[in-house]
Amino acid sequence: MIIVLKSGATEEDIQKVVDKLKEYNYGAHISRGENKVVIGAIGEKRMEEKILIMEQISSFPFVEQVIPILTPYKLVKKEFNPQGTRIKVNQVEIGNEEIVVMAGPCAVESREQLREIAGFVKEVGAKVLRGGVFKPRTSPYSFQGLGIEGLKLLYEVKNEFDIPVITEVMDPRDLDIVAEYVDIIQIGARNMQNFTLLKEVGKLRKPVLLKRGLSATLEEFLFAAEYILLGGNSEVILCERGIRTFSDFSRNTLDLSIIPALKEKTHLPVFVDPSHGTGNYRYVPSMAKAAIAAGADGLIIEVHPHPERALSDGPQSLTFSDFRRLMNELKAIASAVGRRL
Ligand code: PEP
Ligand code: MN
Repeated sequence: MIIVLKSGATEEDIQKVVDKLKEYNYGAHISRGENKVVIGAIGEKRMEEKILIMEQISSFPFVEQVIPILTPYKLVKKEFNPQGTRIKVNQVEIGNEEIVVMAGPCAVESREQLREIAGFVKEVGAKVLRGGVFKPRTSPYSFQGLGIEGLKLLYEVKNEFDIPVITEVMDPRDLDIVAEYVDIIQIGARNMQNFTLLKEVGKLRKPVLLKRGLSATLEEFLFAAEYILLGGNSEVILCERGIRTFSDFSRNTLDLSIIPALKEKTHLPVFVDPSHGTGNYRYVPSMAKAAIAAGADGLIIEVHPHPERALSDGPQSLTFSDFRRLMNELKAIASAVGRRL
């Protein structure tokens, strides 16, 4: 790390930093500029120790800035697996040149609803069926999901239609049973920094789709993924789903610029959710296409045969005909960027 002192720092101040570094067995390289002193800390430390030392040195009133030389996360870093992580879910592989589309209702509502959607999305090329059973609803009066009963429906339909399924978990106490029934675990935007939950999914050997928090920075997003990898679970898919901005025409602002940034910094596959990203079925197809053009490895999209009857997120759900059209259009975009669908 590099420590920049405020102008006017005294020899005594410099010595305090040198002593603090010595306390942790770091050497110090002092360069005295015309009006600022910069101290380079020399030594190799474990990440936990580095973070602590940086915090302690930043607390000195005469320190202007402490700059880390290396990124503070390691397992999610691109260099850790430069060819990119590939995740197998039954017959499906995520992270190769093939674009993987996950589709289905926001919430599992009934056996009939789920069967109808599963058959359709599979027929038009979706590789994974989505369906929430534990729903994180803003209002406690909104439909909360079918819970375990919905989980069993997912399992039944997954077997009948031979399609892997993904569902969200909010409570670590539900993890074991969910892991038994579904193929991919979704951590929702509201739980991106639920560290207890992240640590628990880290112990599983099950792919996890981690959504970006509503106001999470790229670094916070990567740290959340790092928690899961640190637990030993390396099968993490990152998913951009829109962030809170001053936009007054969409539910969230889909931050597609995070795709190339994530691709540069991490080896994990990157997905995009244009449904929650826009909150409006009319904007979903454009943003889905833009996401693939920008380098996303896949999409997760809400589809409902009768959005006007949906128990959650009807306004952002694509009808069957809209979804079929989109899947066709996506093929052209995928091939234009050297991918396939
Ligand atoms: C969902 O996928 O239905 C959902 C609630 O997503 P998010 O966590 O991104 O809001
Ligand atoms: Mn939803």
